[in-house]
Amino acid sequence: MGRYLGSSCKHCRREGMKLMLKGTRCETAKCAVEKRERNMAPGMHGWRRGRNSDYGVRLREKQKVKRFYGLMEKQFISYFHKAERGKGNTGEALLELLERRLDNVIYKLNFAPSRKAARQLITHGHIYVNGRRVNVPDILIKIGDKIGLKDSDRSRKIVKDQLASNPNYNAQGWLQLDADKPVATVVGLPTRDDVQLPIEENLVVEFCSK
Ligand code: SF4
Repeated sequence: MGRYLGSSCKHCRREGMKLMLKGTRCETAKCAVEKRERNMAPGMHGWRRGRNSDYGVRLREKQKVKRFYGLMEKQFISYFHKAERGKGNTGEALLELLERRLDNVIYKLNFAPSRKAARQLITHGHIYVNGRRVNVPDILIKIGDKIGLKDSDRSRKIVKDQLASNPNYNAQGWLQLDADKPVATVVGLPTRDDVQLPIEENLVVEFCSK
């Protein structure tokens, strides 16, 4: 599966909002969205944000979700079809599915400063789920899963340093974290309220349903 290798900040500037793609840098004054002169869409005509058409508004909402979770188009559409097949509200089901991705869970546990860094932690073999090494970031966690680390000083150091960098961080209620080991248990499934992205998921559904 391909992956985006360009600038993350470009995505935030295009969407006109902080998507928090770069970890600690996003909290500082270096954030491109914080700098007024850089808070415009990328490209030569970035300053010319015209009025969006209905199509444009829906496209932007879809792009926000896709970029927030670091997905390629094909991956995003396959999550959408999966959500569509389920019962209930498709938009909420889509976001709940994306929240259950292992890279998102690692980020939400504060084992890594961003989803991108979480993916790297996983692909480099530092993460174990239910005692087995997992090196694919897109597996969906389920209730009862235990997320731990490879039994190595290096893995423990990487994660403990990250946890220590943000000692006041609390994992969301569906994740139970024992920061000393560190190991986490999934005690519930994420809901729409756990998604920290201000978007209108109904517009995403309308865009993808065409
Ligand atoms: Fe987005 Fe973070 Fe870059 Fe700011 S620093 S523009 S929030 S990726």
